[in-house]
Amino acid sequence: MCHLDTYCKSTYTRRIANNECVRCGAQNDSSLRKCTKCRGLESIWRKNTRDRRRDQERRYKQSIYDQRICCHSRDSDTKMNRPVVEHSYITPSRIRMLRRLQRNKCLYCNQTLQVLNRRQPDGLTVERLRNYLPHNSDNVILCCHQCNVRRIGNKKNIGKTNLQIFYDIWCKYKLSGVPTREKKMDPLQREPLRFQPDIIV
Ligand SMILES: [Zn+2]
Ligand SMILES: [Zn+2]
Repeated sequence: MCHLDTYCKSTYTRRIANNECVRCGAQNDSSLRKCTKCRGLESIWRKNTRDRRRDQERRYKQSIYDQRICCHSRDSDTKMNRPVVEHSYITPSRIRMLRRLQRNKCLYCNQTLQVLNRRQPDGLTVERLRNYLPHNSDNVILCCHQCNVRRIGNKKNIGKTNLQIFYDIWCKYKLSGVPTREKKMDPLQREPLRFQPDIIV
């Protein structure tokens, strides 16, 4: 803990002990930790900055969409009693690699995917190929929200093994041509990607 933290903490506890407002240090006129005046000022601040703070939070959430997908997947697997095995489970870098391999397109309808609002029809979602298995790296592909909720994969993947599906993705990736900036890059290499919400990764 740094010196400043210790200082702030001791001030904080001293003010509570002396029944002072923890924000301004004046005698507290309420049973809460901050005085009426301070609470009023903070409420105005919250009101005035609501849009800015909401946008900040949204941008932050969008920038870590890959980590959020992994967390949500883990939650749903745990909830549905699908066993989560660490070494075979999806990772944020696996999601970014899939996004690159699929050229940021839905596997089923070729829609370009976005991560700004993933509940929109063209939002990026992960789909488990085998419904009885958890979100393992070899059981997950990317598709749009619409194809996911409509379970399009159930029809399109009939008779295919997961390996065949990934092989098809790989062939399609190679056939679709490699953009100049990616020419020297091994697509399987897990290179950290900077967040570019509107640009195909
Ligand atoms: Zn105060
Ligand atoms: Zn789709």
